[in-house]
Amino acid sequence: MTAIGTHPHDARHYDDIAEEKITKLINENAGVVAWGEIGLDFHYDNSPRDVQQVVFARQLRSSEALHLPVIIHTREAETETVEILESEYADAERRGVFHCFSGSLDLAKTAIDLGFYISFSGIVTFKKAEDLRTAAKWVPSDRLLIETDCPFLAPIPFRGKRNEPSYVVEVARCIAELRDVTVQQIGETTTANFNRLFCAG
Ligand SMILES: [Zn+2]
Repeated sequence: MTAIGTHPHDARHYDDIAEEKITKLINENAGVVAWGEIGLDFHYDNSPRDVQQVVFARQLRSSEALHLPVIIHTREAETETVEILESEYADAERRGVFHCFSGSLDLAKTAIDLGFYISFSGIVTFKKAEDLRTAAKWVPSDRLLIETDCPFLAPIPFRGKRNEPSYVVEVARCIAELRDVTVQQIGETTTANFNRLFCAG
């Protein structure tokens, strides 16, 4: 299974040809289960912000036309991300996930209201990520996901090393503690959520 899309870093390269290529790959490969990562990254600003916003909205519309959920990358652009989702995606049949969530509890609440899932990476284990742990504790069970984002963001105790898929258990362990459930339960919950989001359509 995979996802295809134009990341906000590369939004300046997104045009009709890119859209056609992505659409073709999706139509010809049953294993493509989502359109993404798409979104806004105002931390690195690798593409101009106005271009990122236009391309994000455009890819939301395209994904909806193909009935695919989206994988959203948003960094230091909470207000603009929510504005675009509210105007472009409020009535969408399929939803998606805020991947590698690093936002505020407010953003988490808005994302849930809009119908999205929220996925936590190794960041949630970092010492200074107290606010993120508040969000991870709050997210409703049926909207919770975990991920590696490897090779980046290895969780504690592997922080600073190259991340590996197997390390995701540390993310599960951290969230299990916060929510006072077992690691096994986090595994079962997030697997069921993954299947519902990406494999049900
Ligand atoms: Zn990302």
